Amino acid sequence: MKYVDEYRDGELAKGVAKEIARQAHPDRVYRLMEFCGGHTHAISRYGLEDLLPANVQMIHGPGCPVCVLPMARVDMAIACVRDPRVTLCAYGDLMRVPGSQSSSLLKAKAEGADIRMVYSTLDAIRIAENEPNREVVVFAIGFETTTPPTALAIRMAQRKGLKNFTILCNHVMTPPAMHAILNGASDGDEAPVRIEGFVGPAHVSTIIGTRPYEPFARDYGKPVVIAGFEPLDVAQAILMLVHQINDGRADVENQYVRAVTREGNAKAQAAIAEIFETRESFEWRGLGFLPSSALRLRPTFSAYDAELRFGLTARPAKDNPACECGAILRGAKKPRECKLFGTLCTPDTPMGSCMVSPEGACAAHWTYGRFRESEAQRVREVA
Ligand code: SF4
Repeated sequence: MKYVDEYRDGELAKGVAKEIARQAHPDRVYRLMEFCGGHTHAISRYGLEDLLPANVQMIHGPGCPVCVLPMARVDMAIACVRDPRVTLCAYGDLMRVPGSQSSSLLKAKAEGADIRMVYSTLDAIRIAENEPNREVVVFAIGFETTTPPTALAIRMAQRKGLKNFTILCNHVMTPPAMHAILNGASDGDEAPVRIEGFVGPAHVSTIIGTRPYEPFARDYGKPVVIAGFEPLDVAQAILMLVHQINDGRADVENQYVRAVTREGNAKAQAAIAEIFETRESFEWRGLGFLPSSALRLRPTFSAYDAELRFGLTARPAKDNPACECGAILRGAKKPRECKLFGTLCTPDTPMGSCMVSPEGACAAHWTYGRFRESEAQRVREVA
């Protein structure tokens, strides 16, 4: 398939991997964070780590929207849908994200709450139109990629005069999370993880462009290479980072030139700016409360704000103390370092958010990485 097969060519990938191994100096370690969950998934699915030399290490980042959603926001959605007038519309992955006291949307649905899985905000618009007696609330999550569709849904609801359509807004922004990763956890009790460079997000960057990453190169001295989601995209981005590090450069480079520009998508940015404003602070699972890191509806669109309509507030909730999602989302640990991984916590019984979405580090490692680990172990034993 055009634009897919050529980016999954195994022979080409081996060639890029050989070049990475040739360029990587044996006396240094290259610790590279792939910020985005889509890249984490691609790295696990295509076994890219197996192709890298041992001193080029990938660190998973917090760029999985389901993973960074804190329990308090899941609890808010459940509190909202306890109102018998409410129909909550949510994307499928959200159904199993753990809230506090072992709750989840899936359990609330089983107990009778009206929760419907949707594929887009337009599905929710249709429900609101067809069922005017229901209060339709969209549980909106995601980074800059999914914010424009939410903005367009609000515009559409306004145009159609829908009075029964609101948004529970949890849209977050990528650059503040990258700042947090480089500065350490917001509570200040953990040193930042050591990172030499970032593989920058693909879809997010189609919206915001490459310009917002420039401070990470300029002020922190960290190279950023924006990469597409196919395995050859990621491999090439890793090679570009290795080159930059070897040269002592810290630039923002764009591997994903077929979709990303420096300025990004002006129309999508305008739609976001029209409907949303920045929150002073927002809680991220694993990163704590980050200033200016998330969006809410502007006062002119407050009629579509579920938090205001239903008087919802976020109440503090603690993650399962045995779950290492926080450390994994900060890049401080790997899934296999959690003692619940593959025992109490599997995709069927997720104890933490990183085991829910395919973009989550634990789910990706469960689905792909653990088999390779056991194969490597078997080969070692036979040898
Ligand atoms: S394996 Fe489960 S409990 Fe452990 S960090 Fe991952 S999601 Fe959390």
